[in-house]
Amino acid sequence: MEIVAVPAFNDNYLWLVHDAVSGETAVVDPGDAAPVLAEAEKRGWTITQVWNTHWHPDHTGGNVAVKDAAGARISGPVGENIPGRDVGLKEGDEVRLGKHVGRVIEVPGHTLDHIALVFDDEQVAFVGDTLFAMGCGRLFEGTPAQMYRSLQRLTGLPDQTRLYCAHEYTLSNARFAVHADPQNPAIARRLAEVEQLRERGEITVPTTVAQERETNPFVRATDEHEFARLRKDKDSFRS
Ligand SMILES: [Zn+2]
Repeated sequence: MEIVAVPAFNDNYLWLVHDAVSGETAVVDPGDAAPVLAEAEKRGWTITQVWNTHWHPDHTGGNVAVKDAAGARISGPVGENIPGRDVGLKEGDEVRLGKHVGRVIEVPGHTLDHIALVFDDEQVAFVGDTLFAMGCGRLFEGTPAQMYRSLQRLTGLPDQTRLYCAHEYTLSNARFAVHADPQNPAIARRLAEVEQLRERGEITVPTTVAQERETNPFVRATDEHEFARLRKDKDSFRS
């Protein structure tokens, strides 16, 4: 499975996922169709599937145009308003790309029916706006308890699992993480690394489960109450 980041808007990543054996290509959360169609064409790939993690327009705005261009089948959370959806997904369902199977897990908090797709064979998960490198999504619809549990589920995956999130927020998250946990050397080290990567204009994701367990204050929170306090702090934090 080959995974390519397609930047869009200010800080979104749309993920193209290609299986060379079957020739199938999926796109995760195409907020904008033009950049993913251009990238796929450059590579000689045809997008046959769209997978949405949640309904927000910066994740679904390109759905219909991608479908029109290539006849892609659109799968997304059954409880949310997903443009052009063909297949409604809920906990325990699967998506397939060639022989690769992605398990659907429900990770509410950012939105109420937000899902993540977990490919156990590849140790890959697409996590949308639930978990970001060193951070997490805002609570637009869900409760702190829901989001805390969702983060624990994602970071309960095996250590090496790569987590593909949908935004480049790592630098501001890292600054908040240092503020929240100033004595943590792993967090300080990662901030320095992220600063260097961003100075060179490089991408800082995917992250891994192991890295998040070590450096993500929202994941490291001991309970939903500590999580809620951190999330509130972050909402007003200016780095
Ligand atoms: Zn969102």
